[in-house]
Amino acid sequence: MQETKIIKKAYKYRIYPNKEQQEYFAKNFGCCRFVWNKMLAEKLSAYEKGEPIPRITPAKYKEEFPFLKEVDSLALANVQLQLEKAFKNHLKNPKHLGLPKFKRKKDKQSYTTNNVNGSIRVDFEKGLLYLPKIKDGIKMELHRTFEGQIKSATVSKTKDGKYYVSILVETEEPRNKVIEPKSKACGIDLGLEHFATITNDFGTYKVEHPKHLRRVEKRLKKLQKALSRKKKGSKNYEKTRQKLAKLHAYISNARKDFLHKLSKAIIDENQVVVVEDINIEGLLRTDLAKSILDSSWSKFLTYLRYKAEWYGRTFIQVERFFPSSKLCHWCGYKKEDLALYERIWVCPVCGKAHDRDVNASINLYLVGMEQPEVKPVEHALVDDRIPYGIPKKPSCVEAGSSTFYKVG
Ligand SMILES: [Zn+2]
Repeated sequence: MQETKIIKKAYKYRIYPNKEQQEYFAKNFGCCRFVWNKMLAEKLSAYEKGEPIPRITPAKYKEEFPFLKEVDSLALANVQLQLEKAFKNHLKNPKHLGLPKFKRKKDKQSYTTNNVNGSIRVDFEKGLLYLPKIKDGIKMELHRTFEGQIKSATVSKTKDGKYYVSILVETEEPRNKVIEPKSKACGIDLGLEHFATITNDFGTYKVEHPKHLRRVEKRLKKLQKALSRKKKGSKNYEKTRQKLAKLHAYISNARKDFLHKLSKAIIDENQVVVVEDINIEGLLRTDLAKSILDSSWSKFLTYLRYKAEWYGRTFIQVERFFPSSKLCHWCGYKKEDLALYERIWVCPVCGKAHDRDVNASINLYLVGMEQPEVKPVEHALVDDRIPYGIPKKPSCVEAGSSTFYKVG
């Protein structure tokens, strides 16, 4: 068994605190800066006199400055640690590291707090961040999820007024979590009727578009219509606009969650992953559907690509002219005049009937099986491919909320 290595990883997200939360952050920034400068002044004066540098805790100031009691005490404790570290670094290497400096209000502002019994939490579904002493969740832009134990969080505000959180997570080194793929290769056809049609060593599966999202998307359309009927700037307009924004955020997070789980399942299961180069212009009736699918597909491909890199798999996107739908996977005949509406076609040469998407995914799978990763050199001249279309053995795959079902 491989030894697992624990590493610390930071994940940074944009956050959108409400007014109350902004005020609370401002207090923390201010108190941290205040305590830093107070401690620094005392330490510097001792240092300049050649006296030993005193060890000071924030508690020392709380009597005289009671406002310090209102903020996160862990944030103040972290200031003490950061300042002690800055002094130590300077004393160790005075040529290259200067003395710590006083902080000014116009600099970038931040504070760091620690996770004590779940005081820092992220709700990935709702896109909310929970921090000590803050009652409600803080809206966050979750462009990616993470696994592991949260150690600390640093809230910062840039000079132009944007808020971010950097979450430090203790996690296992991904390399050590790599599992042996069960299937040598897989081909993925992305589509409108189904999100994806996937062929691997075990057969072909179709993955449905997440159903619950379709329902929410209907509600989204209704709300958009309602908004267009309301007077801009009116109370009702603002209410509807906020509802719409919430729903947008929910959909985007739920979609990402679906795409993360599906891509992870595919990467876990297969050594070589082959997808088509999507060109779906003209295929989609509405702009809304198009933009949603476009972004889902390109996100999905991005996730597959970087996860393949992380887990040592091969990711291939075939060139646009590769006729994955038009080639008969059985005999190799190319049906030049295959129209977009033809979901099922019969090969005039071998007589096989093809489901368009299944046939395309099998052709992509064949490309994967040609890769040297799955075809040892000494066998390169032997046609040892399995007869496609006949699954070796039936199996079911489950990936989060997506629906897989067996074809044929
Ligand atoms: Zn054929």
